[in-house]
Amino acid sequence: MQVKVLRDILSANERIAMKNRRLFDEKGVFAINLMSSPGAGKTSLILETIRKLKDRVKIAVIEGDIASSLDAEKISKENVTALQINTGGSCHLDANMINNALESMSLEGTDLLIIENVGNLICPAEFALGVHRKVMISSIPEGDDKPYKYPLMFSEADAVLINKIDLLPYVEFDIANFSRGVRALNPRAKIIEVSCKTGQGIDNWVSWLSSQMKT
Ligand code: MG
Ligand code: ZN
Repeated sequence: MQVKVLRDILSANERIAMKNRRLFDEKGVFAINLMSSPGAGKTSLILETIRKLKDRVKIAVIEGDIASSLDAEKISKENVTALQINTGGSCHLDANMINNALESMSLEGTDLLIIENVGNLICPAEFALGVHRKVMISSIPEGDDKPYKYPLMFSEADAVLINKIDLLPYVEFDIANFSRGVRALNPRAKIIEVSCKTGQGIDNWVSWLSSQMKT
């Protein structure tokens, strides 16, 4: 019974996700779903991405959080459209929340929509939102075993960013072991090492993103 309920919820979600996708495509918006555990650097990456791209790409952001609008406020300071979704305790965004958000924001002229999911490595991977690419961030302090512990998220991602690479001298993290774990689940995912603090690797990320937007 439990299993059937979950299956129905996910298939209803899938239908709304397809609606979102049609809407994005009609408006010429490229949408990404950015996922990670709390504190891995989603908002920092969005800020870096905006700074690199905003002169040539019109960006909008949807911020998913359980509570508070702290991240949306940070993003608004960059003069991009930012909409906050408070999930009211729910630990992931679903397609319906995005569909509702889209009704209250104009995507006219928007090239790129970045959706920051709720910080969580489990259910955000189960709920399709209708985006074109899924991106996940893992960070050095979380340890190199995450692909082994949270396989669904890693197997779904089109790109896996390793953030806080500046901490490598201080924290034990075996990039080869991490990458092996990702590759075993998802041979095609692009793995990109970045530091939102020093800016290392951000150009690689932005050029991957730009290349995806053209396809
Ligand atoms: Mg955030
Ligand atoms: Zn959840």
